[in-house]
Amino acid sequence: MRITRREIMAGGLAAFATGPGMPAFAATEMVLGTAQLTTLSDGNLVLPREFLIGDLPQAQATEALAQHGITGDTLTPPCNLTLYRDGTNTVLFDAGSGPAFMPSAGKLWEALDAAGVAPDEVTHVLFTHAHPDHLWGVLDDFDDPVFTEATHMIGQAEWDYWTDPATVDSIGTARASFAVGAARRLAAIEDRIEFITGGQEVLPGIMAHDTPGHTPGHMAFELRQGSESVMVVGDAIVNGHLALARPDWASGSDQDADLGIATRTRLLDQLATDKMAMVGFHLPEGGLGRVERSGDAYRFVAEV
Ligand SMILES: [Zn+2]
Repeated sequence: MRITRREIMAGGLAAFATGPGMPAFAATEMVLGTAQLTTLSDGNLVLPREFLIGDLPQAQATEALAQHGITGDTLTPPCNLTLYRDGTNTVLFDAGSGPAFMPSAGKLWEALDAAGVAPDEVTHVLFTHAHPDHLWGVLDDFDDPVFTEATHMIGQAEWDYWTDPATVDSIGTARASFAVGAARRLAAIEDRIEFITGGQEVLPGIMAHDTPGHTPGHMAFELRQGSESVMVVGDAIVNGHLALARPDWASGSDQDADLGIATRTRLLDQLATDKMAMVGFHLPEGGLGRVERSGDAYRFVAEV
């Protein structure tokens, strides 16, 4: 297994730099058998700290976050998309935020361009779930589909939840816009959708796994070539700090907190035991790495 970190620079993209001296786009690459995995940045989210730690023990949560250099009232989680090219298929895991969610996100199209991939070269878009930062990038500024040649794959439970007209009323006011936004975008790509189920090899070398809790039909994807593998975990492990330091704590971003804890605990145990590589959508440094046990908890080790 070979991993290289490279900086992809493209003309005119300096405005997207995340800080002094930072590259416009950092991509982490991994060779998996005869296939190539690349993580691409869609930018970052800007969230109030309360969103994450609302009901948690404040002092402990503050200390755990401080250990990762997070001391302010704002969180800026990165968004890492996974591109997988096996010579036949060009597979994108999630579609990013698109132009309508947050100014700091929705940079995927530039990142794809910098990596030399045109949207119409993407053959499959596989969704971990239908939150805005994962789904809304399927449509452009004119509400036209972006990945015009791609089959879009999503779990039936996730589709059913977000296309149910009752969801907007049951999801709570804080997430009502998520429900409206998901329903509209899923309707727009309905004729491109293929439903997938947990335990199914959805494409050669790509196995879907049910990982519910963050959303009702959240899925992770195991990519395997021979003895080499990597798990694209989406938001089942939603950050590189509290989710690892205290996987038993409810995450403010999980829709079903208890189910989210059960899924996260199981997944972390599996990844650490198998020493399996993973990509986390909101994990640091491109999101590609491994988790290691650290006492009762875990820590993320970027790259491999
Ligand atoms: Zn997310």
